[in-house]
Amino acid sequence: MRILVMSDIHANYTALEAVLKDAGSVAQTLCLGDLVGYGPDPNAVVEEVREIPNLTCMLGNHDAAMTRKLPFETFNGDARRSLIHHEKVIKPSNVDYLRTLPFQATVHGDVTLAHGSPRDPLWEYILNSFAARLNFDHFSTPYCFVGHSHIQCMFGLDDRSDHVLLEQTLPDQPLILRPKVILNPGSVGQPRDRDPRAAYAIYDTEARTWTPRRVEYNIAEVQERIRESGLPEKHAARLAEGW
Ligand code: ZN
Repeated sequence: MRILVMSDIHANYTALEAVLKDAGSVAQTLCLGDLVGYGPDPNAVVEEVREIPNLTCMLGNHDAAMTRKLPFETFNGDARRSLIHHEKVIKPSNVDYLRTLPFQATVHGDVTLAHGSPRDPLWEYILNSFAARLNFDHFSTPYCFVGHSHIQCMFGLDDRSDHVLLEQTLPDQPLILRPKVILNPGSVGQPRDRDPRAAYAIYDTEARTWTPRRVEYNIAEVQERIRESGLPEKHAARLAEGW
């Protein structure tokens, strides 16, 4: 089964469209949260995502803020400003949808899903081997898929040495999965690994492979909508360079 894994769309409808088109036909879609925050299109993104067939979608920290499960004060200034903007424009039916999203899930019996980490689904970033090692004690499935850091990567635990290795993942190079890995598909709408192209991954359940993907989209058009909406300039500028 070919499964689309994506995360951190962040109200960037143009990037989402590019990813869905590039991924082509898939049997299932796993979305690791943060549909809203930062970008210009919170309604269009929620409405597109909720219509995806065979979807399992997690709650991200920005989504939780939109449903008032998290106070806006816990976000930094520019992130908070975009949440305040989104709250003014988002339709109540879309907030209702965000309210239905879970913090964590298990699919196919072998994959744990969470936005940030299985230990702290809303806030923890798995950015280094230390954070990854702590999290290997918080899920029992062979694989764990997370988002939140906006960085496409993989952490693998070597059971014998108890060491965690951060393994670089490269676009279009399939990784053959062994048990005890934490995988991040990167961010659709606001990549932070210096590659501005929209990021996602394809998980193949039969071949047991994970293929990171990058796809170009019209960044200038999204920057224009960010500026027109009066959202912070920083959210427009960073899209061009991927930070
Ligand atoms: Zn995010």
